[in-house]
Amino acid sequence: MPRRDSGVAVPHPHPPTLTQGPPVDSSIIQGISTFRGSVFPGQQRMYERLVRDGQQPKALIIACADSRVAPEHITQAGPGELFVCRNAGNIVPPFSQMNGGVSSAIEYAVVALGVRDIVVCGHSDCGAMKGLMQPGALAAMPNVAAWLRHSHAADRIVCEAYPDDIDPKDRLRALALENVVVQLAHLRTHPSVAAALAKGGLSLHGWFFEIETGALHAYDGRRFVTLTDDGALPVAEVSTPRRAAADLPVRVAAE
Ligand SMILES: [Zn+2]
Repeated sequence: MPRRDSGVAVPHPHPPTLTQGPPVDSSIIQGISTFRGSVFPGQQRMYERLVRDGQQPKALIIACADSRVAPEHITQAGPGELFVCRNAGNIVPPFSQMNGGVSSAIEYAVVALGVRDIVVCGHSDCGAMKGLMQPGALAAMPNVAAWLRHSHAADRIVCEAYPDDIDPKDRLRALALENVVVQLAHLRTHPSVAAALAKGGLSLHGWFFEIETGALHAYDGRRFVTLTDDGALPVAEVSTPRRAAADLPVRVAAE
């Protein structure tokens, strides 16, 4: 058995091996072995506590599936701290257009887990946004092309509200940023989110992670602002309790 009472790395005595099927990159196999042999033993109590007490993640993060954009790594969060949903293009389909994984993750996070923050996180050099700019490149990927229709509003915004002669790199960046704003709008169409916003206590965040610099830009409801070490994190929407009908009760007209 590996030692569980010290932080000393001890290789697992029985690293997993594959006996059949296609080979998996050896670094993945080694990673599993290292986790089981020297990481998990030091964290077992934490994992046991997470099972005993259940998860209480601080936020739901909807991020791109891009392998370079790992929410837990960017935020330095550990197990149990983030409820993460990732897909190509960090997309949130508007409610009722698609009953799928994203809708279910949102509903579960808000209703069952009671998260108080939802983050939509886009990023630089996004392949999904590149596909949106070059639909011809998606000819062999009909599912991706169909999925990206949820970002068509962002594409139209960049086409019609930005300069015609915008540099392609700037266009890609603008598209990814506008896409975050569009997905935040879609988020509000989900009943669980709409209700939580009306009750107050739920905040929506739009982030953009710049892979090459590590910078994080956050949407403040009007524009993206670069996060600094001493600055407060801009929030796209902070909800306060509201009832639109409170001051105008519905009256039945006299006949
Ligand atoms: Zn991406």
